[in-house]
Amino acid sequence: MATVNASIGNPLPATTSRAVVDLDAVAHNAHVLAAVGGVPWMAVVKADAYGHGIAPVAITCLRAGATWLGVAQLAEALHLRALLDDAGVARPSRNPDSVPTSERPRLLCWLLPVLTPDQAAAPGSPLRAALAAGLDLSVSTRTQLDAIVAAARAELADSPDAAAAPARIHLKVDTGMSRGGATPADLPALAAAAKAAEQDGIIAVVGLWSHLSRADEPASGSTEKHLSRFLAAERVVAEAELNPRVRHLAATAGLLWHPDTRLDLVRIGIGLYGLSPDPAVATSAALDLVPAMHLEAPLTQVKRIPAGQAVSYGGTWRAPTDRWLGLVPLGYGDGIPRAASNGGPVAVNGLRAAIVGRVCMDQVVIDLGPATTPEGSPLDPPASPGDIAVLWGVPDAVTPTADDWAQVCSTINYEIVTRLGARVPRVFTGRDAARIPASPVQETRA
Ligand SMILES: *Cc1c(COP(=O)(O)O)cnc(C)c1O
Repeated sequence: MATVNASIGNPLPATTSRAVVDLDAVAHNAHVLAAVGGVPWMAVVKADAYGHGIAPVAITCLRAGATWLGVAQLAEALHLRALLDDAGVARPSRNPDSVPTSERPRLLCWLLPVLTPDQAAAPGSPLRAALAAGLDLSVSTRTQLDAIVAAARAELADSPDAAAAPARIHLKVDTGMSRGGATPADLPALAAAAKAAEQDGIIAVVGLWSHLSRADEPASGSTEKHLSRFLAAERVVAEAELNPRVRHLAATAGLLWHPDTRLDLVRIGIGLYGLSPDPAVATSAALDLVPAMHLEAPLTQVKRIPAGQAVSYGGTWRAPTDRWLGLVPLGYGDGIPRAASNGGPVAVNGLRAAIVGRVCMDQVVIDLGPATTPEGSPLDPPASPGDIAVLWGVPDAVTPTADDWAQVCSTINYEIVTRLGARVPRVFTGRDAARIPASPVQETRA
């Protein structure tokens, strides 16, 4: 992905499609949510910070008070650690009891490659790289535990100077989502095996955690069940004589709508990006969140077509009257859902337009309105090539939101922003944007 830093008030002219990411909005959202939570918080920056750009978002969140960063994949975690090293963000203390700070944040990664103990112990294995990088790792199964124990034994054996420390793990329990996590049936044996490895000085069980499946349905009763299963899991690990100091359950929706689930740490994702976990429960505006991503592209062509003319592949839309059309250089190759065919909203020149015909790989066509009056006189085009089409951003009278797109595409705002492709350059604005390293390449665009 190409990225550019721009200082606010001096945005570069858009000569191609681009996503402008407002880091001040990210910082604002972080402050709002941290104040609601009232406990330490993790900035969830998986999937390239939900499509926004992992390094600038992570660093903005650390400056806003995050003491933890969270990603899903191990490769993302190692990439993030390298970016933080480059940016001068220190590694946390190896002491299992130490409390992380914004200067020395902890990184948690919750999806691991599936490795046998031999593979995990091999020099250069991904798990050994994870331990060498000081990552916190999630463990749901005995297979995962055995791999981490093997990798940690190998790391410890190779660092006789005690530079290596026990592997820090967070036991993940399934409290009702039936995704990752140990079931109540499997937890006692997993906890006992973890305790044995802890006594050997190989691992330290520092966290106990789970994830809520219906926190955006406050009346469902689901979250209360998750919480009581979590408390039962706490008793099981206590019986195994484990003492995980960091218990965490809530993502944005839990933080907002289920105060009991905030525990010792909240994992904040979607809210940082200024989007509501469920706009039907509360809109981003009602939550005082500001959408951070603004997706725009210059119109590359504006043309008149006669009534009855079909548009785009399959001719699924026909001009009801003579029309002005605009061509926008974004398509499903950029992550624009093809489900937005005949409906995706776009703002241009103070006008609300919509995609007509099918979304193509690289382009969409938008309807700019009638080209002829009902009496048959020609109308001037309402926009010209180079005028900026905004697909989503901070809502105003005409600007659509990621929520509007989610509705048109029968999906959720999370998917709309996260699927935005690597081909779309990210441009960062905000007070500190020029001082924040962009990733992975920094490029200046004319
Ligand atoms: C993605 C994710 C989060 C963040 O969720 P939001 O709803 O975006 O706040 C938290 N925890 C886990 C395990 C996740 O996968």
